[in-house]
Amino acid sequence: MTRANIKTPVYLDYHASTPVDPRVMDAMLPWFTEKFGNPHSTGHGFGREAAEAIEIARGQVASLIGADPREIIFTSGATESNNLAIKGAARFERKHRDRRNKIVSLVSEHKCVIESVKDMAQEGFETVMLPVLSSGKVDLAELDRAVDDNTLLVSIMTANNEIGVVQPVEEIGAMTRERGVLFHSDGAQAVAKIPVDVERAKLDLLSISGHKIYGPKGIGVLYVRRRPRTRVEPLFSGGGQERTIRSGTLPTPLVIGLGEACAMAQEYLAEEAGTMRILRDRLLKGVHERIAGVALNGDEEDRLPGNISMRFSGVDALQMIEIAPDLAFSTGSACTSDVVEPSHVLRAIGLSDEEAGSSIRIGLGRFTTADEVDFAVDYLAEAIGRCRANGSAA
Ligand SMILES: *Cc1c(COP(=O)(O)O)cnc(C)c1O
Repeated sequence: MTRANIKTPVYLDYHASTPVDPRVMDAMLPWFTEKFGNPHSTGHGFGREAAEAIEIARGQVASLIGADPREIIFTSGATESNNLAIKGAARFERKHRDRRNKIVSLVSEHKCVIESVKDMAQEGFETVMLPVLSSGKVDLAELDRAVDDNTLLVSIMTANNEIGVVQPVEEIGAMTRERGVLFHSDGAQAVAKIPVDVERAKLDLLSISGHKIYGPKGIGVLYVRRRPRTRVEPLFSGGGQERTIRSGTLPTPLVIGLGEACAMAQEYLAEEAGTMRILRDRLLKGVHERIAGVALNGDEEDRLPGNISMRFSGVDALQMIEIAPDLAFSTGSACTSDVVEPSHVLRAIGLSDEEAGSSIRIGLGRFTTADEVDFAVDYLAEAIGRCRANGSAA
């Protein structure tokens, strides 16, 4: 065992959250204490200093995704951004134009997208949740049929948080733009991990989360296109900050942290993605060599470089988590109001409940080492051996 070289538990759940990078932390710190001014109180130096720093951060975010700084709206995270994009776009259309009434999305979206779309169905919008292929990718022919003259919005995530599958956003964006339909994408897992460019993908709305990209929790962004102008009805009433789209005092330290995280991503994205692929392939190779009855969930090619979602025949992933406390990873089950259910994403790609229940998700990240990967392989092989022995004994 390579256990001696490393500190346990080993964190392999970077899709759930990432640590704040030390460089991001350093950038944030002064803004909690000595530089505390309200960035919207620009009548004095305290406020002006914060306002200026926020504009630099806005530029850093914009630069990473090929946007104009004026198109960056700070929110509390991707959950809020997704709500604001979907509800805001739908309600604006209803209130000011009332011509189009249909929203198209995918069954494999993050819960906050699915629930936002459901809320819009409650408000009288026609909603379509398209199925996905067994690869986890959108069926472009199905999408083509669903997007009609009555469609106001298509919301399709750039990369999936469970199976890491990357959607063909450039093809989707070309279609939606041609048909005058808004295109929103939940980019929480994709931005800062793979190149995401709002021009190339013709995105009108894009959601970003700070804590998925080595920034702090509680901060996110909604990119809102200026040309052609995309309009969203705000969720909150208030002081009209963020071009009236998102009222509330900006959390200066978190904004600065997100800006720095984006600047770091821009600097290291290509290099980091390369390292991630090498580590992922090392882990997969080890698993295939050591463990029988393994299958990968989701598309083999079009996936995030740090994602592995796989299933082990005859293994109960929840039991495995219990007997493998030195490895932090996720299972293919979700706890919804105290009942354990197979993940809706794994169901959507056609897995049986048993297959979903035998699935785990591993997310590699910036601080993952080759030693940790080797430990993970050893540890998984041992844990799965024990699970299978238990299973056959029962
Ligand atoms: C984490 C995540 C979210 C939610 O982001 P928060 O910033 O935690 O609200 C939404 N969508 C995807 C794909 C995610 O991975």
